[in-house]
Amino acid sequence: MNLKEIYKENGAFLEGHFILSSGNHSQYYLQSAKVLENPKTAEKLATALAEKIKESGLEIDTVCSPALGGLLAGYELARALGVRFIFTERKDGEMQMRRGFTVEKGEKVLICEDIITTGGSALEAGKEVEAQGGEVVGFSALANRGFCARVGSDLEQKENCKLPKDKPMFALEDFIFDIYSPDNCPLCANGSQAIKPGSRGN
Ligand code: ZN
Repeated sequence: MNLKEIYKENGAFLEGHFILSSGNHSQYYLQSAKVLENPKTAEKLATALAEKIKESGLEIDTVCSPALGGLLAGYELARALGVRFIFTERKDGEMQMRRGFTVEKGEKVLICEDIITTGGSALEAGKEVEAQGGEVVGFSALANRGFCARVGSDLEQKENCKLPKDKPMFALEDFIFDIYSPDNCPLCANGSQAIKPGSRGN
């Protein structure tokens, strides 16, 4: 499976000049919701990710995603793993577990995002799970932006990765491309205007 091709086929791997949620600029933009709008594609990707996770032998009771970005990937992954699915969401800037979701003491929870960039939201979701008594056993995403280390890749963890080094991270592929600060962006230097896509850029 070539994840980048699947993103491109679904119009989810955009090329141009974009402003990411971090404020940095990039020539590329990933719009995972566009890949996951087709349930058959979502199922195929989640099943492949679930296979990798099962191979590792990691025990998982529940998948938890930070809303909104991780919801579709997490739900499909939970289905493929045969476990339940819950999510956390931001309220007044803070990641919280709402809507009557609970975790039992010691419940083994895998955090799932669509794309792991620095892993900030995934880490916050994990902290909320732990605050509720659960045990975060690992992290997962369809794609890894190359800042965090993942199982099955030689990529070293970069300084800006926020995920704990002692927990496994699973992703289908690494999507590595440069990001630039606005005052050091070669695309800006060429006179092009950066645009902000509809939602969070990864
Ligand atoms: Zn720029």
